Amino acid sequence: MVGGSRDTTPTLLFSALHEEWLIHAPGREGMIPQAARVQADDQPCPFCPGSTETPQAYDTQILPSRHPFLSGVVTSEHGAAPVHSVLLYASGHDVILADLSPQRLTRLLRRIAEHTRLLMTGGCAAVYVFEVHGDVLGPTVAHPHGQILGFSFVPDKMTRLGRPCALCAAADMAALRLIELETVEFGVSQWSRLPFEMLIYPRRHISELGQCTNAELRDLAAGLHHALRLIGDPAVPYILNIMQVSPSKAGEHHLRIELVPFNKPNGTLKMAGACELFLGIYINPVDPVRAAALLRQRLAR
Ligand SMILES: [Zn+2]
Ligand SMILES: [Zn+2]
Repeated sequence: MVGGSRDTTPTLLFSALHEEWLIHAPGREGMIPQAARVQADDQPCPFCPGSTETPQAYDTQILPSRHPFLSGVVTSEHGAAPVHSVLLYASGHDVILADLSPQRLTRLLRRIAEHTRLLMTGGCAAVYVFEVHGDVLGPTVAHPHGQILGFSFVPDKMTRLGRPCALCAAADMAALRLIELETVEFGVSQWSRLPFEMLIYPRRHISELGQCTNAELRDLAAGLHHALRLIGDPAVPYILNIMQVSPSKAGEHHLRIELVPFNKPNGTLKMAGACELFLGIYINPVDPVRAAALLRQRLAR
C-alpha cells in the first residue's frame, strides 16, 4: 500500500443498522483465494510437513491463524490459546475430511474438545469450528484445513437463548433420520436452508464437545463420517459447522454439527442469493423429507 503503514488489526463491531456483529479485517485485504491464483505458487504449502509451521508429519494440529479475523489470546490455569486458530487434520496435501476413518474423526473431535475447553476456561462464551471445502467458496490455502474461533459473546445465529430447546423438542425424526445411532441423532434437518443440509447432535442436552461421553463422541464421529461420505463427489462444495456454547452461558443451546453441501439433486449448485445474503432468509428448493429419501437411497448402494 502507498502512504505508509496502516493498522491491520481486525475490529469486531456491532452494527446498529443490522443489529448484528460485523468484523472488519483489513489484514486480509491482499489475500487471494487459491483458485484465483494465475499460476502455481512457488511458495511451498504452509501446512505440508517440512514447512516452518509444520516441520513433522502429524495427525492433528492447531496453529495460530497467520491472518486472524479475531485478534487476541485468552489465558487460564490450563494454558493460553489464540482466539483464531487453524485446525489441521492430515499431513497429506490431498487428504480430505471424508477420507478420515471414524476413529480418526473421534480423535479429531476430542482434540477440538480440548482446545474448546482451553478457550472457554479463558473466557470465551462460544466456540465456532468450521471447514470451508471447495474452490467456489474461496479458501485461500489449498491444504485442507478448518478454523476455530473463540467469541466473547454468543453469536445470534448460533443459538437462541431463553426459548425451549428446538432440538430437544423436535418431533419424531423418523422421516428425516439417515442412520440409527445409540446416543446421537443424525439426519436431514427439518430446518434445512440448503437441500442436503445434515444435522448431527447428541440426544442429551449438552452445549459443547467437552461434555460428551466417549460413546457420544464416537457416535458424533460416526454420523459425521457417514454425512461426509454421503456428499459423494469431492467436487461438491460444503461448509461444516460445529456450534458450541460455554456451559455457563448455554441457556437453551444444544451442541450440534451441521454439514451443509451446496449441491441440488440435479447436480447444480444452490448458492446464496439476495434473500439469503441480505435478509438471512433461505429459499430451499427441496423438501427435507425428499432430501432424506434421496440420501437413504445413496446409503443403500
Ligand atoms: Zn500441503
Ligand atoms: Zn436440547
